[in-house]
Amino acid sequence: MNEMLRSDVLISGGGLVGQTLALALAHHGLSSQIVDPADPALTIAPGFDGRASAIASATWQMFEVLGIADRLAGHGCPIRAIKVGDGVPGQGRGGELDFVTAEDSAPLGTMIENRRLRLALAAALADAPLVRLHMPARVADRTVDAHGFTLTLADGTRLAAPLLIVAEGRRSPTRDAAGFSIANWSYHHHAMIGAVAHERPHGQVAHEIFYPAGPFALLPLVDDEQGRHRSAFVWTVSEKDGPGFAKLGDRGFTAELEKRAGGLLGAMELVAPRMTYPLGFHHAASIVADRLVLVGDAAHGIHPIAGQGLNLGLRDVAALTEVLVEGMRVGLDLGDTALLARYQRWRGLDSLMVSLATDGLTRLFGIPGRTASAVRRAGLGAVQRLPLLKRFFMEEARGEAGDLPRLLTGAEI
Ligand SMILES: Cc1cc2nc3c(=O)[nH]c(=O)nc-3n(C[C@H](O)[C@H](O)[C@H](O)COP(=O)(O)OP(=O)(O)OC[C@H]3O[C@@H](n4cnc5c(N)ncnc54)[C@H](O)[C@@H]3O)c2cc1C
Repeated sequence: MNEMLRSDVLISGGGLVGQTLALALAHHGLSSQIVDPADPALTIAPGFDGRASAIASATWQMFEVLGIADRLAGHGCPIRAIKVGDGVPGQGRGGELDFVTAEDSAPLGTMIENRRLRLALAAALADAPLVRLHMPARVADRTVDAHGFTLTLADGTRLAAPLLIVAEGRRSPTRDAAGFSIANWSYHHHAMIGAVAHERPHGQVAHEIFYPAGPFALLPLVDDEQGRHRSAFVWTVSEKDGPGFAKLGDRGFTAELEKRAGGLLGAMELVAPRMTYPLGFHHAASIVADRLVLVGDAAHGIHPIAGQGLNLGLRDVAALTEVLVEGMRVGLDLGDTALLARYQRWRGLDSLMVSLATDGLTRLFGIPGRTASAVRRAGLGAVQRLPLLKRFFMEEARGEAGDLPRLLTGAEI
């Protein structure tokens, strides 16, 4: 029989959340093994993940503690302002809202291409002896007993730990096999994403324009090597229109993009492959079971309208790391039910609140018709005039609201 490889935890799923978790645990002396069927060389190849993520300031603080921020130097574009409008901006119809940071204060977030994040995580993992990667690898058998989980890989290798952390993304098979109950619905929307080079500088401003067919976001990226200004776009359309837009040639597609952007950034040119994602909501009622926890999209998936999905997953990482490190220091079994209950209490409610707020926003801005638009415009105008309410929204965008795990304040545990 093959030897048993033991570690403090097992992580099933080595996406952005699973890998960051392994690094956070290793930083505090806990060992892990990651199992994922994906080939790591493919996941960092150009074109594998064309998305860019808005990393909230609090999440960025954790990246600094873990040494990930250094590896991203020069690739992150600070978001200094967010401008929100119900329809094309600057048409003088009112109902526009902006969040602007002071020169000397932290940005609202940092835009990073996912590929850059993946490269930085891969480099950090190569320097982390406490993390063992089993990628690409498939789990052939999984058992749990009073001491923990044992995973048997397809090649016969056996891995064991007192806790299994599931970071397998939206369609997590381990979560489903474990019988977690999940609320889910489709938005019947597709998000078309990609990047454009454009004529005018973006001034580190993110634009969120709400159309009845769905939100359209332009998110600032750093200039490319030739000095061309670049932005990522997330353009949401109804699922019946998605295939039609996907079939457009680059010229036709760019012309549609420019129309949606209302001339904000001048002429545009596609500079990255465009991709389409179906959008849905899902939320696990509980995020812990016997010696098993869920993190990231395995636990919750939301509309990208507010760019919070990955940030939510990384908040799970920060909270779970704190719970496990403190448990280790007092000599607890890492699969102890009291430890897992603490994680459930900490993350269960926060992620539900963010998820529901995002869902409400998506529905509110998706209602067609003049009356609905007038209500939205009045709401945006009201927030614009109320500094306290504005500050509240800015703290949410920075990820500074709520009971923050220490890593998100930039502190060691
Ligand atoms: C269009 C779009 C734009 C977005 N923009 C933003 C943004 O601006 N800001 C933000 O915060 N979030 C954003 N998000 C959300 C964000 O991308 C996700 O929340 C995030 O990628 C989830 O990471 P994850 O590691 O949990 O899951 P995933 O990235 O899905 O990774 C899951 C991993 O598990 C592996 N896996 C699958 N099955 C198994 C198995 N059986 N065993 C082991 N491993 C398995 C997969 O190979 C993969 O590597 C956006 C999402 C979309 C769709």
